[in-house]
Amino acid sequence: MTTPHHSLPVRAWGVTATAQPLEPVTITRRELRADDVSIDIEFSGICHSDIHTASGEWGEREYPLVPGHEIIGRVAAVGDAVTRYQVGDRVGVGCFVNSCGTCEPCLAGQHSYCVTGPVPTYGQPDRYADGDITRGGYSQAIVVKEDFVVRIPDTLDPAAAAPLLCAGITTYSPLKHHGAGPGKKVGIIGLGGIGHVAVKIAVAMGAEVVVFSHSTAKREDALKFGAVEHVSTADPDFAMQWHGQFDVILNTVSVDLEIPTYLSLLRFDGALVALGLPAAPMQVPTRLLTSQRRTLTGSLVGGIPETQEMLDFCAHHNITAEIELIVASQINEAYERTINADVRYRFVIDASTF
Ligand SMILES: [Zn+2]
Ligand SMILES: [Zn+2]
Repeated sequence: MTTPHHSLPVRAWGVTATAQPLEPVTITRRELRADDVSIDIEFSGICHSDIHTASGEWGEREYPLVPGHEIIGRVAAVGDAVTRYQVGDRVGVGCFVNSCGTCEPCLAGQHSYCVTGPVPTYGQPDRYADGDITRGGYSQAIVVKEDFVVRIPDTLDPAAAAPLLCAGITTYSPLKHHGAGPGKKVGIIGLGGIGHVAVKIAVAMGAEVVVFSHSTAKREDALKFGAVEHVSTADPDFAMQWHGQFDVILNTVSVDLEIPTYLSLLRFDGALVALGLPAAPMQVPTRLLTSQRRTLTGSLVGGIPETQEMLDFCAHHNITAEIELIVASQINEAYERTINADVRYRFVIDASTF
């Protein structure tokens, strides 16, 4: 059964020009197409990439720019051809809302690697649809193609589950791809919004997890999340001490690191996986790759089937993010605090306050 739905103005928060603070704006969501789901948003997480985009660091956008790609809400209406969701279902939307659907990665369910580029949830033309600019989760409601909607398991706290839509899949996908599990040693560089979720997921997969972090301020937290050790990278001897031990290391920070140092921590066939996007190119001595057949690689989010798998895994292991729930008028302050790494560990906005 289709619920009547007409495009309506929706309250949102966004930036109206480059490098301006976020402010209340009104946007319009498209009328439902046959394969669309309309979602009344309950919670929206703040990801560091929202801040890079809103500040104009990653280039000019069409304004108003409404960020947000960690979205949780309830289905409010469905198009005629929607089969998997009903009004009232709790659902989520992550980093992408469309892709070509026909290339090799898309056919394999790996939408984030669509060869023509997936359509991000905000700030880009939805070129497979009406040419609208996509606008994200800092809003009361969103309309998304059914194929890019996931189901939120009932047992997950919806506010604390919101960051899983980006931080969860961004870490689950490479951990699984590189075989994290019992008998494997996993390193996580950085204990921020992404890193703390990475620790919880890798521990739940059965791996032995070590956190690498410059400061020791979050040592207790790292152990509480299940890591066996927290290593301060300010200690000049750390690389010697942990040389050649790791099967997988996820680099969750976007500052420029000594990549050769972290490669040297990998054992035979180990992989160092970049998740952040530091400004400078990586440079490594080739012998660090050849000597133990080490891999230096990267990973970008993950596909929709794997995002659902991750949510079901997190529900099974009772994993959510550590969050600070805020109201819309605190967004600009939350951005400042995220930039200053003054958050444990992710801000989530109560969408009833937009
Ligand atoms: Zn994100
Ligand atoms: Zn594609």
